[in-house]
Amino acid sequence: MSTTCPGGAAAGSHAVADDEREYFDPVNETLEPEDLQELQLERLQTVVAHSYANSDAYRALCDGAGVAPADIKSLDDLRRLPFVDKVTLRDYYPDKLRTCGLDNIIEVHSTSGTTGKPTPIWVSRKDMDLWLERNARTMWMIGLRPGDLLQNMFGYGLPTSIGLQYGAQHAGIGVVPAGIGRQELLIDLMVDLGVTAICTTPSYGLYLAEKALERGIDLSRDTRLRIGLFGAEPWPETGRERLAAAMGVDVFNEYGMGEFLGPGMAAECPVKQGMHVWSDHIYVECIDPVTLEPVADGAPGELVWTSLTSDSTAMIRYRSHDISSLTYEPCACGRSHPRIGRITGRSDDAVSVGGLVVFPSQIEEVLLKYDEFGSNFCMVIDNVNNLDRLTLQVEVRGLDEMSDDAQARLSKGIVTGVKTSVGVTPKIELHAPYALPRDTSGQGKTACHRVDDRRSC
Ligand SMILES: [Zn+2]
Repeated sequence: MSTTCPGGAAAGSHAVADDEREYFDPVNETLEPEDLQELQLERLQTVVAHSYANSDAYRALCDGAGVAPADIKSLDDLRRLPFVDKVTLRDYYPDKLRTCGLDNIIEVHSTSGTTGKPTPIWVSRKDMDLWLERNARTMWMIGLRPGDLLQNMFGYGLPTSIGLQYGAQHAGIGVVPAGIGRQELLIDLMVDLGVTAICTTPSYGLYLAEKALERGIDLSRDTRLRIGLFGAEPWPETGRERLAAAMGVDVFNEYGMGEFLGPGMAAECPVKQGMHVWSDHIYVECIDPVTLEPVADGAPGELVWTSLTSDSTAMIRYRSHDISSLTYEPCACGRSHPRIGRITGRSDDAVSVGGLVVFPSQIEEVLLKYDEFGSNFCMVIDNVNNLDRLTLQVEVRGLDEMSDDAQARLSKGIVTGVKTSVGVTPKIELHAPYALPRDTSGQGKTACHRVDDRRSC
């Protein structure tokens, strides 16, 4: 099936000659739970001691919490360490959490900065090697092999998705570093180059599929696409079938944060019952965002992340504000790493409408039940006579040809669905496809603006 090039890749622990193997890193992906915990503890002790010794700011944080590296004697002792969050990062801007000299830094990345100034994330050679290793595991896990061609359609600025490219290349997989924007070119590349896999946001994937259809190109029929990796925005399970149909791909979910270099934190295996966290490098907790105590296995809570192996940035107990769940139940794929559930919202991103908490993902889940739904919607919230009002602007396919009765039925159905799901009765505005604003700069986390809160203006 494959040919060997002269002077090809040197054999290493993960040489890609054996395309048939199931795991990219058979040893570390299937560690016995007790061996994994032993490795995590050893790495936690090392990273805390290293951060404490090399960052005055991190040492001050620990001293303030009354904890020293020597106090970390078990994994449970992790909970004695202070939380870090976006505010901490802002206070310690730009380099107070750096834990090595500039002579060890080979790249600088950044957070998204969606809630303030982006924070630089420092990357050493060791960080880089481990990052591409984790991303290579992900690529292999979702079924990519040498011979595949992956078109990466996440942004290439800061924050960057370049780890997906590095990881795929580390696994011997070819990459088209397409980025986001210029959709005509992106579609041409997919068709003309015989691209077999893509990674992008779910909303941008659907947007591209619609744009292609306008040109008479059905991505599910007219390309060699077979695998799609989607992430960087919350999306409901009902979106999986839609993406699969629109693009002709086996759909996988992935999770990453700029604070941890972006992709390479967690992704779905073929079982698709949650995303495996590469927890020999990145430890995850799931806590009650109010009590800050751990929640039960599988229960909803906020994800808190710790880099166990970074030697350049102290990122220990970082509160993501992403609401998900965490389970240590064994997975049928044989990987022993715990799994997080789908991100259902953000503890700091929900909007309150009339005292009820509403996540855009809940609205999307309702809309995706309708074939007529286009690919974009916006929640407009304003206040009339001291009452909050939610207006849902929804793009609808074929709106021009739709009768008034059909439009009224669709609106009524959406109202009922939203009322049942979140308890709020919205007003509905139907719009033609692409009528609502989109962010195609590549810098936003999503191609769509989901919330337009006009109450504070
Ligand atoms: Zn699995």
